[in-house]
Amino acid sequence: MSSNEHHLKCKCSAFEAVFNTPPRMVFNCQCHSCVAAIAAIESKESFNGTSMKCNTPSEENSGAAIAIYKSNNVTVTKCDESKVAFVKVGEDGKIARPYCTECGTVLFNVWAPNWCAANLNALTTSDGTTPYEPTKEVMNVNCKSSFDKTKIQILNIILYLLVCYLSLYH
Ligand SMILES: [Zn+2]
Ligand SMILES: [Zn+2]
Repeated sequence: MSSNEHHLKCKCSAFEAVFNTPPRMVFNCQCHSCVAAIAAIESKESFNGTSMKCNTPSEENSGAAIAIYKSNNVTVTKCDESKVAFVKVGEDGKIARPYCTECGTVLFNVWAPNWCAANLNALTTSDGTTPYEPTKEVMNVNCKSSFDKTKIQILNIILYLLVCYLSLYH
């Protein structure tokens, strides 16, 4: 087992995945879609999972803790399909976020072609138990723009270009 491996596990262990590399990028996203999806999933009374909310909650900084990987870095090692459901935000919601219906932990979703966005708080290092601590500074994105659609789109384009850049040179 390589020490570069990272694991993603929901709280009840119905879903497990292994990433063969550390995240390419980590950030806290406060866009409307992330905040609303997490609120919908984690405000259920039955929620008993690993929260995706970022660890430094404040009014301005209460978004989703996200780790970005290339899709070919991930292998799903355990999945009880009867316990995975998806949440979309609104009629025109583009992102389907999967979560475990047993514990409520948000898992990872397709984020852009060939990229996926994982619940940073549900990641562990290769031993499967030590929470992953980002080695780089965690950026805050989309703050103060969570309900301004134009700003979100501009920021998403910037993020998308950053990802294209990363995929060319990494
Ligand atoms: Zn679970
Ligand atoms: Zn977001």
